[in-house]
Amino acid sequence: MASAYIGLGANLDDPRQQLRAAVRQLRQEPANSSLRCSSCYQSAPWGDADQPLFLNAVVAVETTLEPLALLDCCQRIERQLGRVRNPERPWGPRRVDLDLLLYDNAVMATERLTLPHPWMAQRAFVLQPLLELWPTACLPDGTVLADALAALPERCTPLPDFSLT
Ligand code: ATP
Ligand code: CA
Ligand code: CA
Repeated sequence: MASAYIGLGANLDDPRQQLRAAVRQLRQEPANSSLRCSSCYQSAPWGDADQPLFLNAVVAVETTLEPLALLDCCQRIERQLGRVRNPERPWGPRRVDLDLLLYDNAVMATERLTLPHPWMAQRAFVLQPLLELWPTACLPDGTVLADALAALPERCTPLPDFSLT
């Protein structure tokens, strides 16, 4: 059994419902258990400014899936929820995005999967919800993620009236 953290994002077609549907599907996967959800946060788009605000959250899960099988599960959920990729806008608008942030202390870089997720320590919309679930979170190289967040200029805004569970 491994502990994994999955970052969720959405900014099209009722993002709140997209995130709820993604959590429901992660919970329905029989290999996943003990699922915990962070609060939802509103964030400015990252890397491609000309699009609606994002909603972001992080899910912690215990899983018996190996890392690539968990990525398959995340990508299957993206497809089932109707995500369409636009190759011309890699960081463009999307119905739902599931990124595998951390998988125990795994470190890997293959064509399909890089762990930890490459940009996570530079993204407040990942670090704020992740630290809510795991306040002492560290990367496998020892980077303290609360320190990484403290070094970033921007913050995203929690949505106190909306819960994913
Ligand atoms: P970013 O990865 O910067 O957040 P993105 O989420 O918009 O951008 P996608 O188009 O969703 O990028 O994914 C592009 C590819 O990234 C996927 O096809 C997947 O194989 C690969 N990938 C590599 N590492 C990871 C990871 N840790 N989690 C999810 N996808 C990953
Ligand atoms: Ca992403
Ligand atoms: Ca992604």
